[in-house]
Amino acid sequence: MTKLLISSLLFATSLFTTTDAKAEGRLTIYCTVQNNVCEDMTKQFSQKYNVDAQFIHGGTGTILGKLKAESSNPQADIWYGGTIEPHFQAGDLGLLEAYRSPLQAEILPQFKSLVESEPGKFTSIAYMLVLGLGINTEKLAKLGIEAPQKWEDLLDPRLKSEVQIPDPRSSGTTYTFITTLSTLWGEDKTFDYLKKLDNNISQYVKSTLVTSNLSRGESAVTVGFVHGYATEKEKGAPVEAIIPEGKVGYALGGVSIIKNARNLDNAKLFMDWVLSKEAQEIPWKKHGVYQTPTNVNAEVAPQSIKADTLEFVEIDYKKAGSSEEGKRLIDKWLAEIKLAK
Ligand code: PLP
Repeated sequence: MTKLLISSLLFATSLFTTTDAKAEGRLTIYCTVQNNVCEDMTKQFSQKYNVDAQFIHGGTGTILGKLKAESSNPQADIWYGGTIEPHFQAGDLGLLEAYRSPLQAEILPQFKSLVESEPGKFTSIAYMLVLGLGINTEKLAKLGIEAPQKWEDLLDPRLKSEVQIPDPRSSGTTYTFITTLSTLWGEDKTFDYLKKLDNNISQYVKSTLVTSNLSRGESAVTVGFVHGYATEKEKGAPVEAIIPEGKVGYALGGVSIIKNARNLDNAKLFMDWVLSKEAQEIPWKKHGVYQTPTNVNAEVAPQSIKADTLEFVEIDYKKAGSSEEGKRLIDKWLAEIKLAK
């Protein structure tokens, strides 16, 4: 876990350089985007609004766990990033503060009805991600295995101990993977698949480690959001992304204010800012990080997948976003896959 405390020196400097300061005080952000993006977004918000902000990084499942554990004494004000279903589950559990940002009006048209639905009272959409496979081309060549093109190809016995996927207890990615396959195939076939896939998995770790392990050639194939592989490739890793045949899985990045936030006004200000065109362009313009912006006015990176170019699976958000369903699916994965050796 990384924690950035904006230094008092920086804070003092921002007092002199900020001309449009609208708020003062503090803000603590639970952050589930890439660590360097969390760091910069926190810093830029701090400087722009004259707020002493800090962030704590964690996977979607990890942060949902924190929200549950801290419900009587919240340790953060806002949760930025992470797949949206666990945000909806937090809302379902009464762990979020209602806030409809005026910036919800700038959402891409295909997500408008979701934003306008009940969970949109608590959670807004800050970006979109596309689910796929990451491959290490050098490792696959060494193994003499052709690149997988469909989900079933991951069951190839030659990939034994060569596949890694994130642990769904800490990661929203694998929850998206499970709900995507369940939507495509039904739950029984999905768990049968996950059981067979387990034979080829070397380890279940957090999503950031899954990606870096792929780049280092510790695994040959991973499941993840494809923008991450584009960044690794630009950094020089022998990594490619593959979007499996058929309807495509995806996730929306959520942003929600935490119930009983101590710094509610600053949390609202941060929410408005991360939904803005300006903030949504920061990850790709400054950091080579290519999640797709969901503000209709934001410029999309040439490397990003445009939200209207693929045929996506239709996720039942009511079901996948209910806390009961989230718990049931992860408990089932734990009992039937992880612990059932
Ligand atoms: N948000 C962004 C921008 C990501 O890149 C990822 C993972 O790649 C996630 C959310 C989901 O992270 P996790 O699976 O660790 O919850």
